[in-house]
Amino acid sequence: MTHAELVKRHRAVLPEWLALYYEEPIDVERGEGRHVWDAEGNRYLDFFGGILTTMTAHALPEVTAAVREQAGKVLHTSTLYLNRPMVELAERVAELSGIDDPRVFFTTSGTEANDTALLLATGFRGSNQVLALRNSYHGRSFSAMAVTGNRSWSPTSLSPVQTAYVHGSRRRGTPLADLSDEAFTEACVADLEDVLGQLNGTVACLIAEPIQGVGGFAAPPDGMLARFKEVLDRHGILWISDEVQTGWGRTGEHFWGWQAHDAAGAPDVVTFAKGIGNGLSIGGVIARAEVMNSVRANSISTFGGSPITAAGALANLDHLIANDLQGNAARTGAVLREQLDGAVGRIPAVADVRGKGLMIGVELVRDDGTPAPELATEVLEQTRRDGLLIGKGGLEGNVLRIAPPLSLTEPEAREGARILLAALEKAGQR
Ligand code: PLP
Repeated sequence: MTHAELVKRHRAVLPEWLALYYEEPIDVERGEGRHVWDAEGNRYLDFFGGILTTMTAHALPEVTAAVREQAGKVLHTSTLYLNRPMVELAERVAELSGIDDPRVFFTTSGTEANDTALLLATGFRGSNQVLALRNSYHGRSFSAMAVTGNRSWSPTSLSPVQTAYVHGSRRRGTPLADLSDEAFTEACVADLEDVLGQLNGTVACLIAEPIQGVGGFAAPPDGMLARFKEVLDRHGILWISDEVQTGWGRTGEHFWGWQAHDAAGAPDVVTFAKGIGNGLSIGGVIARAEVMNSVRANSISTFGGSPITAAGALANLDHLIANDLQGNAARTGAVLREQLDGAVGRIPAVADVRGKGLMIGVELVRDDGTPAPELATEVLEQTRRDGLLIGKGGLEGNVLRIAPPLSLTEPEAREGARILLAALEKAGQR
């Protein structure tokens, strides 16, 4: 099948709304380390890691071996029977969780993990009122969409969701833009208090990403969620930390994103997916036992924590920790920032470079300061031509997202930064 035929067949049978990057979509055939190759043999440095799923590296030998070994035994049984890899993985995740008396439930995706977390929190609290943050993204199901504050990603809303904070409200030209981190945090806490004051009855939980992923790698000031937690604790409201993008050391400074906000203690519930399986479809929920065990209705996930995904995820986590990839994310992330930070002020389209570790956002604007999604698309196309894959996101689609596998080397960081900077310099000049 030629590339053109594949594109035609894709478009004929898959939904129109299924996101597909590039004018000439890439047909990725294989990967190794931080690189992927398309069917025509072109090589790309991968700075998006399959939307942050390739956590350690492409074709990591330990993961491949674990999957092969398990596939040779049995592909799947059921959680109705004992499953050694799942038990071992749950123990490992519990040990790493930072949550007291944790219990772990596996799912097949981040959406399903958040759905489960909402079921648990609403069941535990006996209320369907859920708080979410503006500009958030929590997944593709009916309930995950309902708590997704980024309307461009959420065509439905189950019930009005009260939203308490928005990074976007701090954009240039808006009233909150010039506030210090402290003053901004206080304003957001006051907003949360205000929202809670207007609600009748019990509120079940607040669901929040420590750094908004799809929202354009936008981080609240460190400590802000701890201040939220103090307020939530006064009302007995649970805190769900959606770590689908921020978990497993990606931010460099911490193993979990919430740890930048841990002054008031750990979240009640943590959800994860993407990186744990290095591309295998596994996600899950960690919650204190009293919360996890409070809802009995959702007693099974047919595929969640299947032996093959659990065995692969375990090998992936072991590699990640044994090789201190969190430390590597901090080091190589700093190299990237060293290269990219100078673009602000030097390249007019670059309004902001932000993020932590290997989760870096580059926000693009037009001459008049308005968001420039067209420049983001242009840079995506140019970097692809030059052999670099990156992502984009943000409320307005004007933020480039950089999230390579955590085994990135310093020379690769420099090479990627060089390609990206050259594309940024060129953007808007054609
Ligand atoms: N939560 C966050 C923070 C995400 O970024 C995503 C996906 O991008 C999800 C949940 C949904 O995960 P999945 O696509 O695995 O269902």
